[in-house]
Amino acid sequence: MNETAKLDFEQGPIRPPNEAKSLLIRVTRNCSWNQCLFCPVYKGRKFSRRSVAEVQEDIRTIKRIIEDLKELSRQMGSAGEIDDRVIGRVFQSPGYAHAYRNVAAWMYYQEFNVFLQDANNLVLPAADLKALLDFLREEIPWVNRITTYARAKTVARKTVEELKSLRLDGLDRVHIGLESGSDAVLALMKKGVTAAEHIEAGRKLKEAGISLSEYIMPGLGGKELWEDHALETARVLNAIDPDFIRIRSLRIPDRIPLKALVNEGTFTPLSDDEAAEELRLLIDHLEGISSTVTSDHIMNLLEDVSGTLPQDKGKMLAAVDAYRFLPPEEKLIYRFGRRGGAYRSVRDLKDPVLRTKIERAIEEVRAQHPEGMEAFLNELVDQYI
Ligand code: SF4
Repeated sequence: MNETAKLDFEQGPIRPPNEAKSLLIRVTRNCSWNQCLFCPVYKGRKFSRRSVAEVQEDIRTIKRIIEDLKELSRQMGSAGEIDDRVIGRVFQSPGYAHAYRNVAAWMYYQEFNVFLQDANNLVLPAADLKALLDFLREEIPWVNRITTYARAKTVARKTVEELKSLRLDGLDRVHIGLESGSDAVLALMKKGVTAAEHIEAGRKLKEAGISLSEYIMPGLGGKELWEDHALETARVLNAIDPDFIRIRSLRIPDRIPLKALVNEGTFTPLSDDEAAEELRLLIDHLEGISSTVTSDHIMNLLEDVSGTLPQDKGKMLAAVDAYRFLPPEEKLIYRFGRRGGAYRSVRDLKDPVLRTKIERAIEEVRAQHPEGMEAFLNELVDQYI
């Protein structure tokens, strides 16, 4: 390792699961809204815009890190390629700054996509975004797709022409946290956006030619509003027809504001079985759209509720039903395996080796915490938040 392995640039705390191989560049810090009751990510942190000059300096640093990694590769006899040996060195040597690992992984996977952090970069003036996108594509011309998170409220305020300009400047995809299409749920959760604004934002992005991912959150209606949540979310998605519908289930760790509503009895979380019913109702009501549904978040109970509409709707409903129709003890084994990260699908119940291990683990938990199985399962899944 040489001195330049200490080079670093700023990165934010999260990215969408499907941007795991993307280069992360922080354009704004934290969330300009920051009030959603279910969201733990930026609480207690102040929103700020980074200057164009600051982000440009980060992009120059990334270029220097790329050169440094290529030099390391040449020294290791890998001719400038980031292969298994080189990436192993970068990840196993404690001296490499975190940014090196992100850049090394980006070079290793060779997809060359970039995700701009944090929560709502479209609040930046269009001229600043253009300057950053131009600079990024000039400095690293082999960049492929560039994506960002944005709030629907912010997008809805823009004209289609403004969004088209962003598309021309090189912004390929926007990820939006739709969460729910129910106005009652959106208001309860302090999402700061209405169903109508979600539809307006989504349609404008599509008209501008920007690829659109909408995140939905099973469980967000609780027992009180689950049906409205499912039906209205389907209605809003049907009105938008986004390119992607991504499932990210609600979890309620102690540190999020929603916990206070649970404690005072005004929000009642769904059980896993109830969340499966809710998800089935939502999927069943998706009509007339061609979105691709993905369930790639580790917190989702059912990862194989995925496919492209309309042709895979039956397959997705069958994936939910495969869980719904399990006997209670099988459901427990599945939930235990899934929450512990061993299972990805109900089909995994047929793996005899895994099954024996999970059954033993369940017996141990039963012996140690006879009343505490649900609490234990919650702790298992909340470790991922
Ligand atoms: S807008 Fe997004 S990042 Fe901001 S508080 Fe809400 S869910 Fe969290």
